[in-house]
Parts: sequence; C-alpha cells; structure tokens
Amino acid sequence: MPSLGIYIQVPFCQTRCTYCNFHTGVVSSGRFAPYTDAVCREIREHRALYEAAGIGLAVQGEAWTVDTVYVGGGTPSLLDPRLLGEMLDAVRETFSCALHEVTLEADPETVTEEKAQAWAKAGINRISFGVQSFVDGELAAAGRMHRREDVYRAVPILRGAGIANVSFDLIAGLPHQTAESWSQSLAELVALAPEHVSVYLLEVDEGSRLGKEVLAGGKRYSAGALPTEDQMAEFYESASAALAGAGYHHYEISNWAKPGFESAHNLKYWRREPYFGFGAGAHSFSGTQRWANAHDAAAYVQSISSANRLPVAQLEPVTPAQALDEELFLGLRQLDGIDLKRIERSYGVELHGKIVTLESAGLIERNGDTIRLAPGKLSISNEAFVQLLS
Ligand code: SF4
Repeated sequence: MPSLGIYIQVPFCQTRCTYCNFHTGVVSSGRFAPYTDAVCREIREHRALYEAAGIGLAVQGEAWTVDTVYVGGGTPSLLDPRLLGEMLDAVRETFSCALHEVTLEADPETVTEEKAQAWAKAGINRISFGVQSFVDGELAAAGRMHRREDVYRAVPILRGAGIANVSFDLIAGLPHQTAESWSQSLAELVALAPEHVSVYLLEVDEGSRLGKEVLAGGKRYSAGALPTEDQMAEFYESASAALAGAGYHHYEISNWAKPGFESAHNLKYWRREPYFGFGAGAHSFSGTQRWANAHDAAAYVQSISSANRLPVAQLEPVTPAQALDEELFLGLRQLDGIDLKRIERSYGVELHGKIVTLESAGLIERNGDTIRLAPGKLSISNEAFVQLLS
C-alpha cells in the first residue's frame, strides 16, 4: 500500500512577526471551532470534494496508508487541544492509518502542562518548536511573543508529557544578531538536546512590516540592524559545525537530526511522495497533480460548510518537465544527493554538460552517479539551482 502524508494548516497567530507575511490571521478564538469543523469535513469528504473540483486521484482513498501527519501554521498550538484531537480523529476515521509521526508546530509561550498532556493523548508524538533565538532582544525586535525563559519552561513540560521527539527551529539573520549572540543561541540549543534542528536563513517578505522598512527606510523594526548576507552565511556554517560536533546528522539543507529522528513527513516533500493538505492555503500532491486551497480562512470555512465545495485556488498537472525540475531541486536539497543516471534514464535527458559546469564552479560534487551540493556551498545553493534549472 502506498504511504501518504497529511498536512493540516491552522492559519492563526497571536500576533504578526515583523518579517512574516504568511497568510495567517490574528483572529478571535471564536473562529477556531468553525474552522476546525470545516477542516474535519474536508478530510472526511475529500474524495467527493476532490472529484467535484476536478482532482483525479491515481489511487483511491482507501488504498493509501497514512503514516505521517503534520499540523502546521500559523500557530496551531493556540488551539484548544480538543479541536486538534477532532482533526486527528477525522484523519484516523477516514484513512487507513499506521501513524508513526504526528507533528504539531508549537510556539514556546503557548505550552502548558494541560495542553502537552492532551497533545500526547491525542497521538501527537513530535513537536516542532518555534524557538528562533535564545536572545530576548532579537525575539522582541522580530515581534515574537515568547522569550528565552519560555523555552526553558516549556521543554521539561513536553518531556514530562512523554513527547520524545522535539525539533527546534532557529533563524539565522534576525535583526541585532551577531556572531556572538548566534553562538550563544547554538550553545543553548545544543545543551537542551532536541532530537531535530531546523536552521532557516531569514527571508524578509517584501510585504511584511520589516520588508517595507528595508525598502522605505525607518527604525521601528530594526531594518538597519539586519545582518549582511555574508554574516548569515557565516552563521549557517557555524551552525553546521556546532551541530555536527554535537552528533547531529545534516540531511537536508536546513535540517539536522540525531540518528533516526529525520522528519519522515518532510522527507515526503523532498522525495516527491504524495501528501494531502487540508485547510486554508494547504498544498497537496498526488503524484500526478499539485493543487492548493484558497488562502482566506473565512472564505474557506464558508465554501466548505455552506456550499460543500472545495475552494481550490490552483490545480495543475505535473508535466514531465516540471517533474524533472522538482527531482533536481528537491532531490539536491537532501545531502545524500541524487542519482544522476536514474534521472537521465527516467526523463530521457542528458544533464552531463550542466553538471560539469557546476562541478568546475565548485557548486556541485560528483561521486560516480551521485551528485550533491558541495558541502561548503550550501548557503548559496540557489546559485546552483538557478544554473541547473535554466
Ligand atoms: S512567523 Fe510564524 S508565528 Fe510569526 S506571524 Fe508568521 S506564521 Fe505566525
């Protein structure tokens, strides 16, 4: 039976971080239950909703086995755990399931003992924890709600609830970050020994408050205190060294894990395995088509609940040319690299010329048929991707 990942989008936050322009809303908690009701309905009725929307499933629903669920956002840990439990029950009652990884994204300030116990009881066995930094000044400037002490308060609560798989996110490139403060964040992270770590280079969305300040000038959001791209690359390299030294295996450009704790759900994205996304703005991939729901949460609820219609904003077949680009782009994000010969055979293409150019530029390494991004050039991987996909 082919395996399937399920992603559930919860597009609500307590406040808006200065650099973020995601389609998330700061809304009253009264909107949470109608939203999760709509998600449950989308899950339970997905086959009829997909069919009406023109989404063809190569494999019928009952033939998949769901083995991973990822509840992301937004800040899904804001929800009453009962609502999270209802969405997970809808998954269990709709699909054949052998769930071995059920992740919830959580922000440190939202963690309470009561919630953590309820999450574990609902079957959540992995927490992706939005730490971002251990330096309060950086957290405050970025508009984050939590502070360093919230992380220290929350981690024992999660461990006490029996959650044995915790991932920490850190952001390299926050305003006011320095080599020294970055080393401090890395040292504190390593001391807390999460099973998994994601390090993201800050991407400032042009439409965010910080992005507008970068373009138009001003001091309110500390645009002038943003590290340079060179500094960010150094932060990335120092994270890589610190994490390797602490026994983490670097398996994807932004992700490190203790042995056996690689994210099974996220690996599906990079390996082009199928996943269904439920909720406003959620993306899905069936193997032959990609589609995405409309972003507006209120319109999503209205469409599912009143019109019994899936609000699909994008639906496209994956052409062979797109599939090839995805194989290269997603495959090379993984540090194990890709099998060049397999790709050339599957897609009837010849990539040798491009690979030689990238190899001589030092961006790519080749070992027999396996190609991978050069370890020292991961922070500038976009250069390799642009050349490879052109
Ligand atoms: S960065 Fe995350 S927590 Fe902050 S506003 Fe965006 S989605 Fe919400």
